[in-house]
Amino acid sequence: MSDPMQHSVCYRDLKTSTQNYIHRVWQETWDQQILNKLHSIHPSTSHWATLPVRRHDVRLTRLRIGHTRFTHRHLLFGENAPECPSCKVPYSVYHILIDCPVFNHHRLTFFHTSVLILSDSLGESPHQNLFAFLLKIGFLHLI
Ligand SMILES: [Zn+2]
Repeated sequence: MSDPMQHSVCYRDLKTSTQNYIHRVWQETWDQQILNKLHSIHPSTSHWATLPVRRHDVRLTRLRIGHTRFTHRHLLFGENAPECPSCKVPYSVYHILIDCPVFNHHRLTFFHTSVLILSDSLGESPHQNLFAFLLKIGFLHLI
């Protein structure tokens, strides 16, 4: 005789409900990570599509996480961090894409603005001229 308090639950319903709960907790936790540098670029825990060309996708990921061969190779070789000769600050993806006035002219040409924010250029839909800009300033093949 079965227990009247027991109810059968469909496995698929249980799995969906559990996945939704875990994703909601993950999103709530991520929502609180506002100081994490990745949060401003990817505030949602949703999956982003990859770029069809693998090497572009790898470069885009490196830009999003802020780790490129150019900005981080010094760590492998025990060298000093490369420094922007104009601004006298260590090169970073943020400095190259957003901050450095040396590239303002190219930002105007490729993005039609000299005031750029990371999520516009590297977000879910990267700016269509991003790679052309990076090629023009000589950074594309150093990523
Ligand atoms: Zn600079």
